[in-house]
Amino acid sequence: MEFNDRWDLSYLYPDFGKTFQKDLESLEEEGNQLSTLLDDETLPTAEKLAMLLDKSEILEAKLDRLGTFVSCTLSVDANHREANVAENKLDMAYTTLIPVLTRIDRFVAKIDDLESVIGQSLKLQKIAFILREMKEKAKHLIPKEIEPWILEMQLSGGNAFTQLREKLDSTVSVDYLGESIPLSAVRGKAYDPDPRVRKDAYDAEMASYAKIELPMSYCLNSIKMEARTLAKAKGYPTVLDMTLDDSRMDRETLDALWTAVKEYLPDFRRYLKAKAKYLGHGNGLPFWDLFAPIGSSTKKYSIEEAHEILLREMGKFTPKMAEFIDNAFKQRWIDLYPREGKTGGAFCSSVHFADRSLVMTNYQGSFSDISTLAHELGHAWHNRCMAELPYCLIDEPMPLAETASIFNETMLSYQILKGCGEEERLYLLENGLMEATQTVVDIYSRFLFEQEVIDTREDHAMTVEELKDAMLRAQDASYGDGLQKEARHPYMWACKSHYYWSGYNFYNFPYAFGLLFGKGVFAQYLEKGSAFVDDYCKLLRMCGSAKVADVAQSVGINVRDTQFWRSSLEVIRKDIDEFCRLAEKKM
Ligand SMILES: [Zn+2]
Repeated sequence: MEFNDRWDLSYLYPDFGKTFQKDLESLEEEGNQLSTLLDDETLPTAEKLAMLLDKSEILEAKLDRLGTFVSCTLSVDANHREANVAENKLDMAYTTLIPVLTRIDRFVAKIDDLESVIGQSLKLQKIAFILREMKEKAKHLIPKEIEPWILEMQLSGGNAFTQLREKLDSTVSVDYLGESIPLSAVRGKAYDPDPRVRKDAYDAEMASYAKIELPMSYCLNSIKMEARTLAKAKGYPTVLDMTLDDSRMDRETLDALWTAVKEYLPDFRRYLKAKAKYLGHGNGLPFWDLFAPIGSSTKKYSIEEAHEILLREMGKFTPKMAEFIDNAFKQRWIDLYPREGKTGGAFCSSVHFADRSLVMTNYQGSFSDISTLAHELGHAWHNRCMAELPYCLIDEPMPLAETASIFNETMLSYQILKGCGEEERLYLLENGLMEATQTVVDIYSRFLFEQEVIDTREDHAMTVEELKDAMLRAQDASYGDGLQKEARHPYMWACKSHYYWSGYNFYNFPYAFGLLFGKGVFAQYLEKGSAFVDDYCKLLRMCGSAKVADVAQSVGINVRDTQFWRSSLEVIRKDIDEFCRLAEKKM
């Protein structure tokens, strides 16, 4: 079977012509209509609220259609002139809509008898969670009079430091063996099969940070200072409490997660030491070999083979999944191959009003490319499960966003590992463990580090030396003797952009949560078999309409219980055991 390798966007708009422009221009009018409705003091509250929600659903659908068309066009054709112009216009239109949309939040916050208002309308009952959350969150809204000033000051504060950090990162030139290359290129060499290349790249990378460490430290200290100020202004005891609230998560859940992670750190260190030994290192792995490839997989899969594998293996979960994936291929939801002007990586974008998704990949035929397809199609399956819901119930918090994608990845590798030879097996296990180590062990070190920076910031701005020292101590606490003491990475705080996204703090634990939650859900499937399929879809449907713990509880998972996290980590421990056995055998 032949597949068309380009996705079909024509159901969004034929081009950037008349229909597109008309929708774009209508946004202002949509905003005005919402404002007029908000100004109306004569309508009964329940009726007014229902009308506001209907109106904002229409607006969301329009933004979805316009935004998806622009961003997907640009993702495969970065220099598309009309799309670039449209992107700017859309950004501006959106900025003027934000104050109108927050007015809805403030309106809900002011309804004293919210519960009785909800009781009056079936429509409102369906979205009661969001309404209650709006009311609850109103406690943490910055006073209306000051908000515009704070937003404006952030442009020259946190946002400006975010931009400075990006400039520093993208413009610093790294001296790699006499040649000047960008930082991203030198970091890419960490995956090179040649050990000399990896070591030279690491040395070059370390030397380059010295050129930008001082401004980087100012960026980090300032962004975290702003986070402290905002948390205070919003009435949160700490920055972490603010982040957890935004993530619909509680402390108990986070503590249970970290308690289990700490218990399993010795297993991850066992894996790192086995990998070190395999690569010929005596006492733990040097940082430059964390991403070194092990084993080999020369196998290449055509897209027809990938399609067949996905249908066969994912169909074992439920035939509906196979049918769904087949449709995604046939209805051209996927833009498959790399080409000039197309961005790297992969993503899945939901087109909610059309009950579709759009998947972009850069397929080149490796097994990990098939795994990426499974991952992104997992997101698409998640979107399908939410198809019946209104826009206000489809935004899942960060910790739950990767549930279906991790589930799919785990399912695929579980099925494939069952039937492959030892060489292939070692390669696949190592690939999975390398990623899991980043998502669990490295993420834990990032959490510890960020916590220390935010705490210390109450007293003073940390110097470069203090930051380097804090980073090494965080790596000690997580990697332990899995890493060579004299070959750690004191500049990871300058390397990872996540610390610098003002407005997002602790952009680390959701990754660990996501991976281990997805694996834990998969463990439930292994236990319950096909009886779990309906529960699984119910869980995915609920991701945007309840607190994280309640979403999990709907399928009997208690995320506040350390035992649940242990069961997920146990899945990884089994892979570590097998990896160590195979690596030992190969030496
Ligand atoms: Zn994903």
